[in-house]
Amino acid sequence: MTYDPANIFAKILAGDLPCHKVHEDETALVMMDIFPQSKGHTLVIPKAASRNLLDADPKALAAVMPLVQRVARAVKAATNADGIRLAQFNEAPAGQTVFHLHFHIIPAYEGVALGTHGGGKADDAELAALARDIAAKL
Ligand code: AMP
Repeated sequence: MTYDPANIFAKILAGDLPCHKVHEDETALVMMDIFPQSKGHTLVIPKAASRNLLDADPKALAAVMPLVQRVARAVKAATNADGIRLAQFNEAPAGQTVFHLHFHIIPAYEGVALGTHGGGKADDAELAALARDIAAKL
């Protein structure tokens, strides 16, 4: 399988589509998932082009993981979540729907079941507020 540069995350990275941005540096873009599995569901998207983990440059992985940890800590602090699930899907049978590598940071709240993957769209004002709160904890 080859990388399709017209995928939706490539368009967001290029600035051609909007997002609720939390953070951006030379390595990655961090944004809110607009179909969140829980309140505060955040995506870390490395800028280096790869479909997923399987074809990624190990150097790109090494560069992004410290940011994944920072964002996980910031999401937990901003949402008061009780735990954080880190998820990453490789190819459609495994649940991948957007074919540019990304890491899901999904807050878990005691006694609250996680929503389904790719469920309903969240309110834009709520996503914007979450993006600001998480950015403030980074
Ligand atoms: P995956 O199934 O691992 O490929 O995850 C793709 C994720 O991207 C899903 O959780 C979607 O809710 C999310 N998503 C799809 N389109 C957008 C978008 N335009 N902005 C933010 N998140 C998106």
